[in-house]
Amino acid sequence: MKGLVFNVQRFSTEDGPGIRTTIFMKGCPLRCVWCQNPEGINPKPELVWYDVRCMGVRACIKACGAGALKLESDGLRIDRGKCTACGLCVKACPTGALEIIGVDYSAERLVDEALRDKVFYETSGGGVTFSGGEPMLQAEFLAEVFPMLKEHGVHVALDTSGFAPWKKFKEVLGWVDLVLYDLKLMDAVRHRELTGVDPELIWENAVKLAEEGVRMWIRTPIIPGMTDIEENVRAISRFIVERLPTVERYDLLAFNNLCISKYKRLGLRFPLEEARLMRREEMEKLARVAEEEGVSKVTWSGMVERAIEKEVG
Ligand code: SF4
Ligand code: SF4
Repeated sequence: MKGLVFNVQRFSTEDGPGIRTTIFMKGCPLRCVWCQNPEGINPKPELVWYDVRCMGVRACIKACGAGALKLESDGLRIDRGKCTACGLCVKACPTGALEIIGVDYSAERLVDEALRDKVFYETSGGGVTFSGGEPMLQAEFLAEVFPMLKEHGVHVALDTSGFAPWKKFKEVLGWVDLVLYDLKLMDAVRHRELTGVDPELIWENAVKLAEEGVRMWIRTPIIPGMTDIEENVRAISRFIVERLPTVERYDLLAFNNLCISKYKRLGLRFPLEEARLMRREEMEKLARVAEEEGVSKVTWSGMVERAIEKEVG
């Protein structure tokens, strides 16, 4: 069995304890308007184009037998209905302006890749985190990889939206040390509007994970005018306190728009291109709201207006 991966990020410190390798699995059933990883949504490999590297030599167009490429005055057009992600244009381009996002890994190859940094995991209390996209879309593959990592004593974290059938979680949970779980919105109508899916399955799975005794960190992306409403953070906090006894911390992740270029490479526009950043005082206030509701460990991190600041606890 193969797993489709769109990024392997070494020395990550944001996706669980210690120094970690974060493996981004391709494919996601959600459509969050603030998505920072648009290249992780499509569950198939796809072609991207880097405008700054393109010299307009048209080698790609000659190489493409499918007729999927056209160079226009404002850039290269990729007809995604015709493109099969065969990669011939990538090989033909002399300036490296094209790339296929999404690489097939066998379980053995991915584990070998992850074990390269084992010494850092051991010295820092880190490990490997599986993120996405939504890694649970490839639960069968994870069920092959996780036990192999555990045989090597590696700490395994799963970063999930929670939107997957419970039986898929059951397939992998035996090898998971920590689940990083997104709770975005407690208003069901807004949840559907802004993520494209109903939230009930996500809430049910969170409760089931807690009932199974699984250690969890809850995460909320804080998006101006969407998830940053005080009542939203209050409602998520109450849900944590009342229903999720295995939650160890609650992380508020401030929005940023660093993903704009990723959208451009895919020929898309980031819907929140014009959105402002959060302010430090606003993030601190939301953290206080969560604490008032009784969440024992609350952190916030991410970009805020005027300065890039990190977690303040
Ligand atoms: S990946 Fe293949 S089909 Fe797609 S544009 Fe390049 S050469 Fe054409
Ligand atoms: S769940 Fe994550 S990867 Fe999926 S659409 Fe939302 S933000 Fe993007």
